Amino acid sequence: MTTNGNHHGRESPQNAKTLHTSHSTGWLSAACRIDSPNFDARPRDSAISLLVLHHISLPAGHFEGDAVIRLFTNQLDDSDPELSELAALRVSAHFFIRRDGSLIQFVNVFDRAWHAGVSSWRGRERCNDFSVGVEIEGDCEHPFARGQYETLNRLSADLASLLPIKDTATHAEIAFGRKVDPGPRFDLALLNAARNAQS
Ligand SMILES: [Zn+2]
Repeated sequence: MTTNGNHHGRESPQNAKTLHTSHSTGWLSAACRIDSPNFDARPRDSAISLLVLHHISLPAGHFEGDAVIRLFTNQLDDSDPELSELAALRVSAHFFIRRDGSLIQFVNVFDRAWHAGVSSWRGRERCNDFSVGVEIEGDCEHPFARGQYETLNRLSADLASLLPIKDTATHAEIAFGRKVDPGPRFDLALLNAARNAQS
């Protein structure tokens, strides 16, 4: 899906000059694009101010294969007992950072991906409305790879040049008591560094 006319006028002329041409489409040139059908329009006038970090691996703890891509594109094989209960889910994230640091984009950043669920940040609910979701391939057991942090840092910088991102939060923080990701193996020092760079 490509972006539509709703996005015109979002950037001021001064800012637009500093942006990569590819940025204005909402698809980052640094990412491999795989379109997910699981998105819709953001509410009008909702500034995209939050970056939400997740982890995912399918099956849990398995880092090879394409199950996450199939989940986000509604192509999971429901004959696989470990994954069958996920096959009916309609979910997505804007970005997926694989173990080797490669970056996939599923949803245009100007559109609303379906990653946060019931959530709130600083008193504001429905974080999908105003956030960009980043899934980092991993789990609660294994350290994340250095290349994943490097990609996340570059992605954060790219997004900050395109969108009025103010905060970076974990899924655990916006869905407290319901979600734990990106979990204890995620390096909070790196997250804090990203936060400071944005403030
Ligand atoms: Zn999550």
